[in-house]
Formats: sequence, C-alpha cells, structure tokens
Amino acid sequence: MSENSSFPADGPDVRREIIETARALSRLGLTKGTSGNVSARINSGFLVTPSGTPYEDLREDKIVAMDLDGCYRGDVLPSSEWRMHLDFYLAKPACGAVVHCHSPRATALACHRRGIPAFHYMVALAGGDRIECADYATFGTRALSEAMAAALGERNACLLANHGQIAGGPTLGKALSVAEGVEDLADQYLSALTLGDPVILDATEMANILKKFKSYGKQTNELEDGQAAAFELPKRVG
Ligand SMILES: [Zn+2]
Repeated sequence: MSENSSFPADGPDVRREIIETARALSRLGLTKGTSGNVSARINSGFLVTPSGTPYEDLREDKIVAMDLDGCYRGDVLPSSEWRMHLDFYLAKPACGAVVHCHSPRATALACHRRGIPAFHYMVALAGGDRIECADYATFGTRALSEAMAAALGERNACLLANHGQIAGGPTLGKALSVAEGVEDLADQYLSALTLGDPVILDATEMANILKKFKSYGKQTNELEDGQAAAFELPKRVG
C-alpha cells in the first residue's frame, strides 16, 4: 500500500512516545498488566505495542511496524488486538493514534453490553450524542473489528462488549485523553445509575453541544467567523 506523507516516518521518537503512552495507561489506572495496547500511524502504516510484553520491559525495538494490509516486520509479534487498530485507521483515514484498554468502569458497563447515553454533555468528547457498545466477538478476530467499526460509526471511541474500550485521536496524547474521558464518563454513569435512570439530554441539546465542542479548547484566532458570538465566549477588552 502506498505511503501517506501526512503521518511521520518510523523512528525512535514516535516509538518512544508509544511506550510513554502505554505506561501512562497504567499510571492513570486505565489498565493493569499487559491488557492494553497502543498504536500510532506512520507514513507506511502504523506502529503498535507487541504481544504480551509488560510495559516496563518495552523498548523502542520491541514496537512492531505493520502496514495497512495487516503484515508486520521484524521478530516481534504485534499485540493480539492489532486488527482493531488496523481497522480503526482504515475506517478513519485522519486518525493518528489508537488506544485500547480494559479500564475498569468502562469494562464494567461493557459487561452489561450497555453504551453511555447523553446523561452528561461530555459524551460529546467521542464525537457523537452517545457512546455505543460494540456487539460481542472473540478478542483478536475480524468479527470483533467489524463490530467495533459498526459501533464507532462517525465517533472516535466505543465500548466493546465483555471486553473494554477503544479510542482514537489525531495524536497519541489526544487518543489517551479520549480513553481517559470514556473511563470518567463510565464511572459517573455507573454512579448516577445507583439512584435510578438519570435524565438524558435530548437530541437538540446534544446537537448544540456538538457544535459548541468544535470551539472548545480553541483560541479566538482558531475559531471560524461568528463562532465566538454564537458560543457566548467572553468579550475581549484589552
Ligand atoms: Zn483487549
């Protein structure tokens, strides 16, 4: 498959960043042991963490290079979940990084095969008005990848039934932050459910929130014309 120059070339920097992101998964409580995996797009495909290696033993040369046909290079086998990473990139050509983990609260919800509805406006962080839970399929299979792609739709994260969650973003930092956000939402949703079913925001309000998220975190020079006024940003006087 041809090279894509909008992503970096393979090299020690991106391999190091993958290792740091994998270690951050443990540090943030999003994974234990070797159950999470991390990948980043490069111009010839993507780099992914190896199969069954504790994060403290990861080194740059253990990160596995794969192409977008699903072939790998070198002596180290890629993560058993490599196919979900590949299919995430194929479904979302602009996506630069993917994080998969069995974070405890998201996994608890996924074991009930429940997604996260708009009980809180922050579900918009995944790019839609709810976060779906993918149908169950055995880990590492094409069937699981297909279920993931169906649950993602236009969004950049989903739960995986009886398994965990997967999240993507333009960079490793953004993908990690979406995974962290999904875990926080799952935690808050499970807490809210202890008092019964929480109030769900309606489609009109979520459409408004999704529009507003396009300006969220941006400086005024990054906004499109009229966005500052439309989204009630404060007026600059000096
Ligand atoms: Zn997994």
